[in-house]
Amino acid sequence: MQPRFVDLHTHTTASDGTDSPRDLVRKAAALKLAAVAVTDHDTVSGLDEAEAAGREFGVEVIRGCELGVQGRYGEIHLLGLWLPKRSAPLDAALARLREHREERNRRMLDKLRALGIDISYDEVLEEAQGESVGRPHIARVLRKRGVVSGFPQAFELYLGYYGAAYVPRTLLSPEEGVSLMANLGAVVSFAHPMLIRCPPSWFDEIIPQLKEAGLGAIEAYHSEHSARDERFCVDLAARYGLGVSGGSDYHGTAKPGVSLGRGKGGLRVTVALLDALKVRALPDNVRPNA
Ligand code: AMP
Ligand code: FE
Ligand code: FE
Ligand code: ZN
Repeated sequence: MQPRFVDLHTHTTASDGTDSPRDLVRKAAALKLAAVAVTDHDTVSGLDEAEAAGREFGVEVIRGCELGVQGRYGEIHLLGLWLPKRSAPLDAALARLREHREERNRRMLDKLRALGIDISYDEVLEEAQGESVGRPHIARVLRKRGVVSGFPQAFELYLGYYGAAYVPRTLLSPEEGVSLMANLGAVVSFAHPMLIRCPPSWFDEIIPQLKEAGLGAIEAYHSEHSARDERFCVDLAARYGLGVSGGSDYHGTAKPGVSLGRGKGGLRVTVALLDALKVRALPDNVRPNA
């Protein structure tokens, strides 16, 4: 038997990816992936469609979500995996975060207007097909208008941390974000830790704190992690008794070099890794394609 592979970090049109949830799952099936977690930013609105497609195409779909929280060295990203089908507290918390997104997006458009670039919020909403709207959608308008050549320039000149129109977003604390999803029986994984610009010793401070709040895993395998980064994360997980997750962070054409299941080419996340992680979720949440 060939080992089978999975992808536990993907984005759809529900947030800033470019494939609909159904198309993403259809592509996962075509690549013969055994399972795919759909982890859109601050929304679970793509998950029912993804699950239906999972049944249609024979792929295990894991209900997920990616939350950005405020860490000492900038945003920490948290993946919730095996979220319950319905949760009023989660829906309420995500709705608040999306309100903060809208306020922030409008303030960024104000800043762009002050720079002589007049974009209406409706134009941004037209680019966003789902309910979680953010900087990538503003970047698409800037590119369409010919103001920038592409995403790298849009972030460098305007939308990135050092960009002229940057506005910070109101975020949960790391503990709030972890416990929000862990209390629902999800496995919460610290996403792409090596993208944070921090001293490596900081992880020995933050990881025990987050474990206390319910952290269950560390995303060791990611498109932007080197082999050395992977080892660092696997060691970290072992040191604190945490599981290991992995995924491409696929965004469709919004991240051109990153492919589903394969990342930048070398990513191989196995079903064995998935199975080891799954036992950390509330059993009721683990109903493949239910
Ligand atoms: P937001 O959630 O609105 O803060 O936007 C963050 C999203 O923008 C991330 O999830 C990435 O998909 C994308 N992004 C962030 N920085 C860059 C960059 N430098 N180039 C391209 N995309 C980026
Ligand atoms: Fe994104
Ligand atoms: Fe992320
Ligand atoms: Zn992501």
